[in-house]
Amino acid sequence: MSQSPPSLRDVSCADDYDPNSMPVDQARRLIAQFLAPVSGTEQLSVRAALGRVLARDVVSPVDVPAHDNSAMDGYAVRHSDLGAAEVTLKIVGTSFAGQPYNGSIGTGECIRIMTGGVVPASMDTIVMQEHARAEGGRVVIGPGHRKGQNLRRAGEDLPKGGVAVARGKLLAPADIGLAASLGIAELIVYRRLRVAFFSTGDELVSIGAPLSEGQIYDSNRYTIYGMLSRLGVDFIDMGVVRDDPALLEQAFEQAAGMADVIITSGGVSVGEADFIKDLLNKLGEVLFWKIAMKPGRPLAYGRVGSAHFFGLPGNPVSVMVTFYQFVRDALYALMGRDPVPLLPVLKATCTSTLKKAPGRTEFQRGILSRNANGQWAVQVTGEQGSGILRSMSEANCFIILPTAQGNVEAGALVDVQVMEGVV
Ligand code: AMP
Ligand code: MG
Repeated sequence: MSQSPPSLRDVSCADDYDPNSMPVDQARRLIAQFLAPVSGTEQLSVRAALGRVLARDVVSPVDVPAHDNSAMDGYAVRHSDLGAAEVTLKIVGTSFAGQPYNGSIGTGECIRIMTGGVVPASMDTIVMQEHARAEGGRVVIGPGHRKGQNLRRAGEDLPKGGVAVARGKLLAPADIGLAASLGIAELIVYRRLRVAFFSTGDELVSIGAPLSEGQIYDSNRYTIYGMLSRLGVDFIDMGVVRDDPALLEQAFEQAAGMADVIITSGGVSVGEADFIKDLLNKLGEVLFWKIAMKPGRPLAYGRVGSAHFFGLPGNPVSVMVTFYQFVRDALYALMGRDPVPLLPVLKATCTSTLKKAPGRTEFQRGILSRNANGQWAVQVTGEQGSGILRSMSEANCFIILPTAQGNVEAGALVDVQVMEGVV
């Protein structure tokens, strides 16, 4: 459904990598090479375009502001009429916002003007009313006024033909207001991205059905549903698919026929990988990596038909961390966002002692808060096992511990990535 990206093999040959220990950044870079925005667009009213990604620059059809106008309530004067001492000017009219003064203004004359009122071409300076003294039909103005003061020039906010909102922007309230201020009623946005997802595993039961011995409820489809909803994509929940090659093949083919992106969880770890690998090599092209990260080690990325495929690990926390670290950015790029917004990372004092072995990047779950001195502090959410979803539920940030980092003492500064907008 998206444009056909280049072959995975060409790219993977060009880039030297170790599939058994892929650094997080390298995996991100490899994936990024295959991501082009969806090609379809639609034209929507400005209100309906809120939260969508702009597919064409909004170009201003007019100068903003349209006329030279006053930034203050006061008097529009000729600077050459003012002097080193007080002068008295005759008031010959008034310019209100939306009601300009069209009469002539002679030497020694001025007009009363309100904020937003059009400044006549022969006037070059605005004197605030607080700096003037009205006396009947006249006004007395002292010295010290700068030529051009309090005057907003036509086109100074945005010239005619200038880009008001650039392609790739996720349209926010200010953007649709800006379009409206230009008299633009409709905007061209990218069509919504379609994402199909399913869980794999014989042990999984959907909520509503009773559990037999050894079975567990499928939670990944719920976290994935939640994260996709926050990103603003259309999605298709395909349920649980058994670990059965025929059923999986059917599910992948069905998904590829209706979606731009397929996301699965489970079945990509050691032992299971070969089984899915064979299947996906038949249906498309897929790269399997063991990412040098914790949690979230196994990850598959590729294509099934023309759909992008993300094979996430099965463990509930790993699913969320890999979604956050790889899938979020990729989906934004496919949605047309340009640039893809980075999640904010800040330094915080870690109030917990953290266990960490060097060799891979860790994404521990943290609770970020401000301490009594107004500085950022972070504590870990207790046990960090990749099956403990409560650690994600309590967290509002990831504590990112880089590859070479060992244990962290309480009081040390750490990098914290705020989980904004997805969890
Ligand atoms: P797998 O990668 O398929 O070996 O799964 C790794 C672990 O995650 C296993 O303990 C699975 O039971 C668990 N798991 C896999 N899929 C899900 C799911 N959809 N919901 C909850 N747990 C899961
Ligand atoms: Mg499994």
